[in-house]
Amino acid sequence: MAGFWSRQLGRKLRTAVKRYNPVARNVKPCEIGERFGRLVVSDKGIRDADGRFRHTTRCDCGGTIKAKPSELRTGRYVSCGCQNREKLEKGMHRTHGHWDGRRPSPEWNAWHHAIDRCTNPNNPKYHHWGGRGIKVCQRWLDSFDNFLADMGAKPRGRVLDRQDNDGHYEPTNCRWATLSESNRNRRPFVRTKPK
Ligand SMILES: [Zn+2]
Repeated sequence: MAGFWSRQLGRKLRTAVKRYNPVARNVKPCEIGERFGRLVVSDKGIRDADGRFRHTTRCDCGGTIKAKPSELRTGRYVSCGCQNREKLEKGMHRTHGHWDGRRPSPEWNAWHHAIDRCTNPNNPKYHHWGGRGIKVCQRWLDSFDNFLADMGAKPRGRVLDRQDNDGHYEPTNCRWATLSESNRNRRPFVRTKPK
């Protein structure tokens, strides 16, 4: 029986060490007080139930979120979510009918996603847009209102399309196109493997 209990104790100890010791899993923890955007690391970090090592961080707005050291270092999280909410609200302020507080309009989505693809390196499709040097014109970056004034309402079933595929998102190069028109405009598709 002694063997059984010592084995149990050993297991508990190993679990505890793993849980509190990030080094056991090759994670370099952040320092308490280290700042990432609006977030300040407020504890030494702990391994969550899912086995991931996370810090508790306090946001300047008073909120708290848990985040992995990698998520903080790479800029995945720079606020508790308040920064994005503010951006959304700023973009949709004064845009009557395009933001009902829960769901943005199709026009707003098209505008928002175009900007994200071109300016956010964390967007999974960034390399097709921003990474290729495609930009959104300053007028549209400035406000959704400008975009809406230039483009008008999105007809059902159409998508925001750049006529010149190497051109930018700007009034002279954009239209609401049907999906097939837009697909014709794609860069030639390069197959890496013959089918
Ligand atoms: Zn916040």
